[in-house]
Amino acid sequence: MASTEKTPMNHQEPKLPPHVLIFPLPIQGHINSMLRLAELLCLSDVDVTFITSDFSYNRIIKHGKVDSRFARYPGFRFESITDGLPDDHPRAGEQVMDVFPSLKKVTGPLFKEMMVSKDLLASENRRPVTCIISDCIISFAIDFAIEKGISIVYFRTISACSFWAFFRMQELVEADEIPVKGKGMDLLVKSLPGTEGFLRRRDLPGFCRVDDINEPKLQEIKFETRQNTRAHAAILNTFEDLEGPILSHIRSQIPNLYSIGPLHSHLKSRLQTKTKEFSESSGSLWEEDRSCLTWLDSQPPKSVIYVSFGSITIITSDQLLEFWYGLVNSGQRFLWVMRPDSITGNDSESKIPTELEEGTKARVYTVDWAPQEEVLNHPAIGGFVTHSGWNSTLESIVAGVPMICWPYFGDQLTNSRFVSEVWKIGLDMKDTCDRVVIEKMVREVMDVKKEEFLERADQMAKLARKSVREGGSSYCNFERFVEYIRSLIL
Ligand code: UDP
Repeated sequence: MASTEKTPMNHQEPKLPPHVLIFPLPIQGHINSMLRLAELLCLSDVDVTFITSDFSYNRIIKHGKVDSRFARYPGFRFESITDGLPDDHPRAGEQVMDVFPSLKKVTGPLFKEMMVSKDLLASENRRPVTCIISDCIISFAIDFAIEKGISIVYFRTISACSFWAFFRMQELVEADEIPVKGKGMDLLVKSLPGTEGFLRRRDLPGFCRVDDINEPKLQEIKFETRQNTRAHAAILNTFEDLEGPILSHIRSQIPNLYSIGPLHSHLKSRLQTKTKEFSESSGSLWEEDRSCLTWLDSQPPKSVIYVSFGSITIITSDQLLEFWYGLVNSGQRFLWVMRPDSITGNDSESKIPTELEEGTKARVYTVDWAPQEEVLNHPAIGGFVTHSGWNSTLESIVAGVPMICWPYFGDQLTNSRFVSEVWKIGLDMKDTCDRVVIEKMVREVMDVKKEEFLERADQMAKLARKSVREGGSSYCNFERFVEYIRSLIL
């Protein structure tokens, strides 16, 4: 009798695709990479619900045109939920850290309530969520998944090298290599396997720069990163040819690890194969100023340095001037993204002096926000002054553009060291902001050692693109990942 009663369900359920819920940290870099993963899953006929904060949702709909990008996937849905912060909260600079406790305190309970009241997001033609892909810090999603017996996958949107440093924080503390502040910043790190001989204490993630190991942010990150082992699998936005040795170390702790990046290139490649089209929709939280592409069209090949510090970095008016003088004195052309909320200091201080601006008009262009992927792939771009955010780093790698790194916080401090010392596709100017150093580095990348840097960047770009083509490591890892997702409904 019981089996007869179940027949309609059994008869119907296998027809419905698996249903994945994706929950990124609701900030630009994380949203960008998770949206790309969402689209890749849609292309593999997996149903996806993408949950983000009301604040981010409203902005990516307005500026990022994601609704039209996803309209072609009937299995895709957005859900939005509050991040618990008022709309006018800056969510940038140091204050971006406010998102973390707020998500935990306010969003966590609401998420649980929503999932229960909406029957795990099931509907007539959609099965209940079968897998949750969650970002770091959203450990309430893990608790919920475990409670409900749903598969949970962790997606860390940072590099493998910085993830590994986060993961080993306990060991670094035990070896007295953290706290870093005031303790031999240039000493080599000894207790992070795979980084011997080149990683200094100053290259560890920014959260290690504390006076006291009981510093709440350090403790929080240390705790949350170890939560990764509770997940059934983990995803990293990287590729084997770039970070193979570090990935092997991570796999010794998290065996079910899929490296499927660079995701933006992976998506582009599959879209071109499957649909013969590629939409340039970015998921941006700011309005893209496309006029910079027209300006780039009139510049000679590889002559422009692109300057952008991502979506969170805030620079002081003094730093702004050091960069401006350094760039101007280098004699190069440059395109600079100055997010309206990215400069501190009063209005008069944070402006470029008129005479400095007048003298350089012909070789300088500034915008509030750029279509970055397109900019980096423009033939006029020859270098990138970057804050070493992981998305920006990968976008630069795929475009074959050498970098000058000025990391701001978190994982960026580790990424920039790998760019300069391991992959040798750029220079690292962390912990200085001096016009003389900036000028010297720009000259080195754009002039003195231009060919050397371009050649190595080009080789890495080829490896990146190979990894996402059919048969490449990231391509195959993604196929295995989709098989795993499908196996959950068998
Ligand atoms: N970005 C963009 N336009 C800009 C600056 C940045 O589209 O003018 C995008 C960039 O392509 C990247 C993301 O914003 O995908 C920034 O992410 P990243 O991880 O580099 O840094 P974060 O903003 O998280 O510090």
